[in-house]
Amino acid sequence: MCGIIGYVGKRQALPILIEGLRRLEYRGYDSAGIALSDEQGVSVTKSAGRLSALEQIVDASQPHTSGIGHTRWATHGAPNDVNAHPHQDGAGRFAVIHNGIIENDRALRVYLQRKGVEFTSETDTEVLAQLIAQLYNGDLEDAVRQALHEVSGTYGMAVVCADEPGVIVAARKGSPLIIGVGQGEHLLASDAAAILAHTTQVVYLGDGEMARITADEVRLTTLDAMPVAKDVEEIEWSLDQIELGWHEHFMLKEIVEQPSSLKNCLRGRINLEEGAVRLGGLVDCTRELTRAKRIIIVGCGTAWHAALVGEYLFEELARIPTETEYASEFRYRNPVLDDGTVVISVSQSGETADTIAALTEAKQRGALTLGVVNVVGSTMARETDAGVYLHVGPEIGVASTKAFTGQVTVLALMACYLGRRKHLSSTAAAQFNAALAAVPDHVEKILTAADECKAVAQKYSDRDNWLYLGRGYNYPVALEGALKLKEISYIHAEGLPAAEMKHGPIALITDGMPVVVIATAGSQYEKIINNIQEVRTRGGSVIAIATEGDREISQLAEHVIYVPDTLEPLQPLLTAIPLQLIAYHAAVIRGCNVDKPRNLAKSVTVE
Ligand code: GLU
Repeated sequence: MCGIIGYVGKRQALPILIEGLRRLEYRGYDSAGIALSDEQGVSVTKSAGRLSALEQIVDASQPHTSGIGHTRWATHGAPNDVNAHPHQDGAGRFAVIHNGIIENDRALRVYLQRKGVEFTSETDTEVLAQLIAQLYNGDLEDAVRQALHEVSGTYGMAVVCADEPGVIVAARKGSPLIIGVGQGEHLLASDAAAILAHTTQVVYLGDGEMARITADEVRLTTLDAMPVAKDVEEIEWSLDQIELGWHEHFMLKEIVEQPSSLKNCLRGRINLEEGAVRLGGLVDCTRELTRAKRIIIVGCGTAWHAALVGEYLFEELARIPTETEYASEFRYRNPVLDDGTVVISVSQSGETADTIAALTEAKQRGALTLGVVNVVGSTMARETDAGVYLHVGPEIGVASTKAFTGQVTVLALMACYLGRRKHLSSTAAAQFNAALAAVPDHVEKILTAADECKAVAQKYSDRDNWLYLGRGYNYPVALEGALKLKEISYIHAEGLPAAEMKHGPIALITDGMPVVVIATAGSQYEKIINNIQEVRTRGGSVIAIATEGDREISQLAEHVIYVPDTLEPLQPLLTAIPLQLIAYHAAVIRGCNVDKPRNLAKSVTVE
């Protein structure tokens, strides 16, 4: 969702900005624009639609060594050429790009109009550009600071000014920005992927901080003009992780990467001999965590599904009462957070606006907050008291796959870590860890049978309605399987706890309706077989996900996709894989743009 890139140095800015915007495309956007600046002034080019439309109209003939670029995800005003960023003042001396929402834009617009300012766009962002121009008195940094004091809402923003060529001023509040440090050049981005081709040395801008960036210097201050000192940090990600390579889509690349992403997630975290889990990120809060009386896990979308698996894990392994909540609900409903409540926020990007707001709410009420996050240095990683990174590498596909299995793995590790400090015996923990360590190889095996998933997709991709059923640990997987199908193939699908079907949704089952049933070996196997019978009786076509060696089930289901046997609490890590593949192939067969699904953005950074 929306992207920012900036460059100031000695090289040509335009190709660097375009390439940066291309690497931000995966986040989802509806228009794009660029501002190039030099002694002659600021020149802005912008266009609705894909980046290729911008490339066709941008004038590449003039050399420029600094500029900013933006991919917009419209919140205020239609996604058209005029509303695309950058936005300018009437005289065209300033160009502003902005991620986020200016909440008091109406009041500021009226105030500026009374002063004679004429607006050209419907956006909240233009207010910022006009305000900076009004307040400018020869010092861009100062004008931005003053303007931001008048503004409420969220922003990651950057501005260039015709009077100060070679200077970019940037600021953030609730929307990420990082500064890339190169040789005689600096870059600015809302996402590391945009600058990784040029540098891995970065400075993370903190919330409420500003930067004045030139080719040779970065000056950091707070919004109140206090100087800020920061170390340059190294980004772990490599370029090939954010490139497609020989794969057709990022989603497929990330599905097949899971054996290695899960190995990375587990690396150094389990000791098989001692049956112990080591989580460096939790060391400082272990005592408080062990005394927790209640855990609340918050997340959105796929992260919420992973959180639900986490709920089952925490209750079973650590015997701590746990609830999973949609972050968007939690933040607004005055939740009870009494002494001893721990709030865990789960988010791939660490920038999900609803989850950050839930986290802020929890912090204000004094809860210990933990993050389960993939992106190092993200807002959530910084704002939580402690946490555990996924270490699954960058996830570019909009439909989350390897982050889901990474989140479940981290929550399983946390549950075992806590369990050992409470009720879990060392033998049980050792058995759990050994099963966890075997998961990457099991996933590898499932991937070799990917053709069966494709066959299922081929047979049923023309059906408009699907059901996904699961029980226990596989109930959240049923929800996730349905979400995957909806997101990328636009087929309507519903996930349910299998027993709930008879309380209503069974009315939907008609002849030939695809019903995916997760029927792996375990405590509820017999029950789920009954559910399969209920579906069959009503003419539904059963696609079963079953445990290797279960021959009986092939008599009941039209298709069976087998997964290796593992402990019940770890089954989601295996059963999710065929569902990811079915969704992927169904989308491809239906001609959908898998990596850029309609209306969706990668990280949802607005409310
Ligand atoms: N609120 C701004 C707009 O609608 C910024 C949207 C974005 O984050 O891309 O233009």
